[in-house]
Amino acid sequence: MSGHAQTPSRETAPNELISVVVPCYNEAAILEELYSRLTAACESWGTDWEVVVVDDGSSDGSLALLREFARRDPRWRYLSLSRNFGHQTALSAGIDAARGFGVVCIDADLQDPPEEIARLIEKWHQGYDVVYAVRRKRKESLPKRAAYWLFYRTMKYLAELDDMPLDAGDFCIMSRRVVEVIKASPEQNRFVRGLRAWAGFRQIGIEYERPARAGGEPKYTFKKLLNLALDGLCSFSGKPLRLAAKVGFLISTLAMAGIAFAFVQRLIPAPFEALGLPFVPGYASTIIAILFLGGLQLIFLGVIGSYLYRVFEEVKSRPGWVVKEESPFERLPAGGKEAASAQRRSEQSGP
Ligand code: UDP
Ligand code: MG
Repeated sequence: MSGHAQTPSRETAPNELISVVVPCYNEAAILEELYSRLTAACESWGTDWEVVVVDDGSSDGSLALLREFARRDPRWRYLSLSRNFGHQTALSAGIDAARGFGVVCIDADLQDPPEEIARLIEKWHQGYDVVYAVRRKRKESLPKRAAYWLFYRTMKYLAELDDMPLDAGDFCIMSRRVVEVIKASPEQNRFVRGLRAWAGFRQIGIEYERPARAGGEPKYTFKKLLNLALDGLCSFSGKPLRLAAKVGFLISTLAMAGIAFAFVQRLIPAPFEALGLPFVPGYASTIIAILFLGGLQLIFLGVIGSYLYRVFEEVKSRPGWVVKEESPFERLPAGGKEAASAQRRSEQSGP
């Protein structure tokens, strides 16, 4: 089934409500600051708003603070996942639970300044479906900046989407119809900014300066970042697979030429000897060729494996996440993942 999007549900989403989705993993150190700065920012928009914080299995008392926020101000909702599912999944769970006509995604660590949301909304009101924030400057270490730079360029090259934005993270506002496309995408390995770009409609970026974390440690380990990069690349591009075929073809052509050369040299060695190329029966060349081809095969087995693994993950069709606890609220009428799989089931069972 292709994730054919439902029609924009302007009617089902309470009008003028803007949801702010905040994935949060062990951010207790800065949650109070987030609460006051984000509340102040939301109050300045002059619309209804709600905040949906997704506790991604924190173990540092973040959840207790979120319960407290929900008591203080019921517009601060929260979901708590049953374990750490990872940033992109937490973000997806929040997007799924958001009820707004516009949905903002923002990090909990205040690296996406809440005050900037007003600029996103302003642009969004001009009729765009997605307004994403593009990082002009990063206040991070040089190796990390270099890695991000490389990743976004590779992504841009590989992605089979024309306008995959460069240096844009998850910080954005999306209209309901884009949210519905994301909700209807049942994939397990979620790369939200890729899904967002895939959704299409009118998208535009605006620049902002990305400050350093307000406090606490980065929650992305190197391993998590690498996995995010792989998800991004593999989920939105088949190019590495095709590259494997091309390189394999090139190498085998070269090898054939080499074999032909050796064969001719064996049959008529004289002209080659005159050129200073005597025929030397040796193992070196053979071994080099074997090692080279063996190495190449292993590399591309790895490429194939990483796709295969993703296929395996998708085929299992597990729920994307598990909610352990949430603040009381009414969900929007069915949509999203459950609706998508229900639809798939009914398609399979035939008319
Ligand atoms: N995060 C999460 N689950 C994770 C890791 C991170 O929900 O497993 C959240 C984290 O709390 C933060 C956001 O994702 O709000 C971005 O994480 P981080 O600041 O570590 O990433 P970076 O800014 O370094 O890319
Ligand atoms: Mg951060």
